[in-house]
Amino acid sequence: MYQMIIIGAGPAGISMAAEARNAGVTPEGLLVLEKAEEHSFTLKKYYPPDKLVTANYKGFEAVCTGVMCMPDLSKHETISYLDRSLVEHDVHVRYRETVHKLTKHDREQRFTVYTDRGEFETRVVVIAIGILGKPNKPDYPLPRTLKDRLLFDVTSVPLENADILIVGGGDSASEYCQYLSQRGNRVSLSYRKTDFSRMNDINRESLLALGTRGQVELLLGSTIARVADAQGRPEVTFTEASLGARRYDYVVYALGGSTPENFLKTIGIEFSGAAPQLKEAYETSVPGLFLVGDLSAGPKGGSIIWAFNSANTAMRKICREYLDCPPPSGG
Ligand SMILES: Cc1cc2nc3c(=O)[nH]c(=O)nc-3n(C[C@H](O)[C@H](O)[C@H](O)COP(=O)(O)OP(=O)(O)OC[C@H]3O[C@@H](n4cnc5c(N)ncnc54)[C@H](O)[C@@H]3O)c2cc1C
Repeated sequence: MYQMIIIGAGPAGISMAAEARNAGVTPEGLLVLEKAEEHSFTLKKYYPPDKLVTANYKGFEAVCTGVMCMPDLSKHETISYLDRSLVEHDVHVRYRETVHKLTKHDREQRFTVYTDRGEFETRVVVIAIGILGKPNKPDYPLPRTLKDRLLFDVTSVPLENADILIVGGGDSASEYCQYLSQRGNRVSLSYRKTDFSRMNDINRESLLALGTRGQVELLLGSTIARVADAQGRPEVTFTEASLGARRYDYVVYALGGSTPENFLKTIGIEFSGAAPQLKEAYETSVPGLFLVGDLSAGPKGGSIIWAFNSANTAMRKICREYLDCPPPSGG
């Protein structure tokens, strides 16, 4: 039986493992289960290759309370740091293991965790699966025939010298515009609001500068009514008559993600509306079951440092109430 099983090896799962090791949980007492072939899958898939990973993302203060911390870094440096943390803390990750079920035993502090390849027993479970397992989709139907041209990231298809429409108004949308225009694409951005209040200052200023220089066409206050297949290319019809219907080579949606509600509810976690109920230190309504990282950050979404800090906070309660370990430093 494990002391702790962590589900997901992104920034939250990796820092949770580092916190556990720092608090004295042995390598044999700890297991990380990751559904992808490698850790930090969200960063590898959704971050543009030359992205600057900012420490104060979404306005979170860049102040660290636990064992892991980072300044502004490149994508490559961030992934290397997470890589090294796994090695330095001697953390065992089982890759290609998708957790689909979890049960809590009634009379003792014990869970059984079921993956597509086996089952594991543990005293404490920490879920760190993030919100981008299923990226948010628009509310109009997307033609299946265009699935290779309607994208949710900028790394899975080489995008060069193409007409591209980005849809969204957050930091990701701005970073996609910056990255794709630098690579010689003709980029337009459709956002239903008329200002970029959700973006951080750097992303807002960079995007507005691209708009002023004519390097990105900003379609602010625009709403997409439908997308149709026009001889293999997306034809986007806007509700605004002045914009009409336009053809692109690709449409990239940057609409964020959402809590995997069904998965969490099946496990027995209680919800208030669309959000899981969280008690002190991100413990759910199921004793000994914690949510960290993006899952603990609320509707605004989290950041990497938020993930690191949430792991430290959860570990202090886990030590105090479940594993009898000296509480980790910080907090
Ligand atoms: C385009 C973009 C740009 C961003 N830029 C920044 C930035 O500059 N700075 C910053 O601080 N933050 C940034 N963020 C936010 C940051 O990436 C997230 O806050 C952070 O990745 C959350 O970490 P996490 O571990 O909670 O979730 P994730 O990073 O999403 O990791 C979840 C992991 O769980 C795995 N998993 C999912 N389901 C299962 C399952 N059932 N079983 C097993 N494993 C599972 C996934 O494969 C994944 O590896 C950005 C996000 C995006 C999308």
